[in-house]
Amino acid sequence: MGNGQRELNHTVVGRLAPSPTGAQHIGNARTYLIAWLAVRSRGGQLRLRIEDIDSPRVKPGATDLALDDLRWLGLDWDGPVVIQSQRLPFYQQALTRLQQQELIYPCTCTRKDVAEAASAPHNDQEGPVYPGTCSGRTVADAQILCQQGRPFSWRFRVTHTPRFKDHLAGEQSLDLRLLGGDFVVWKNNDTPAYQLAVVVDDAAMGITEVIRGDDLIPSTPRQLLLYKALGLTPPVFAHVPLVVGPDGRRLAKRHGDTRLIQLRQAGVRPEALLGLLAWSCGWLGKIEPVTVRDLLPLFRWECIPRRPFVLLPEHLHAIGYIS
Ligand code: GLU
Repeated sequence: MGNGQRELNHTVVGRLAPSPTGAQHIGNARTYLIAWLAVRSRGGQLRLRIEDIDSPRVKPGATDLALDDLRWLGLDWDGPVVIQSQRLPFYQQALTRLQQQELIYPCTCTRKDVAEAASAPHNDQEGPVYPGTCSGRTVADAQILCQQGRPFSWRFRVTHTPRFKDHLAGEQSLDLRLLGGDFVVWKNNDTPAYQLAVVVDDAAMGITEVIRGDDLIPSTPRQLLLYKALGLTPPVFAHVPLVVGPDGRRLAKRHGDTRLIQLRQAGVRPEALLGLLAWSCGWLGKIEPVTVRDLLPLFRWECIPRRPFVLLPEHLHAIGYIS
């Protein structure tokens, strides 16, 4: 790693897990940079996984674009790229294991049913709380539903919410009963849900540290329930605050074009963007060009602000990008 003082520590394994549901933007780049540096600065390994099972939302070409974006930034990875759509038998095995323990039940509710039945107020991101309409069913009932030709998903019965200590966000004690309740592990189009696939994969890939955006904090207790149910050891979690626009909302089209492909095409240098991101993480005193290698010795968890990074037009000007 070009630094004699740094000890190789192969027990640390991190991952980057882009979803090819659209182009990667500056916010994704910041999270990937933190995840890469956290692991590489300790000589750890980094794996890359493409989360492409959300089929209706996956965009053609988005996987290649994401790989190009990562290479452009200088973020490398070890071993072959893991592609979720090629791993369906593993998710199916995990589903069977949950069925054998009666931890899940078949649910025929549509999204609309859930929204209409839910009386409790809900936050936008997590959706309405599942009212338990189908929770009286057992695994065996799935056969009858199949015979009737009725589509169904599989829901995990939430009996409690595991607490966890996030490496960056601290102690977390959410209540899953208020955050959606029983959650889907297998969708009614016969594909695994994110929560199940991510647990199966992180365990199979030997991931010891999951570093990702803090919009996924509410997913973590669900995933911890699945780790336990499947007899797997969970990783350490570190959730990174997101990049938001001047209005405080998550980066979106209304904030201008912050897609990495757009920056690349506009001639922005990766070093310029890395300088902005590193400055936003508190590792540089000013926005100046740097490479990921330059940042390895500068990485510190404690410098990263515990609030979202507000991306302003002046930041984009500073890196030579006028969107
Ligand atoms: N694929 C997810 C995303 O791009 C990340 C999931 C995870 O890190 O667990 O937001």
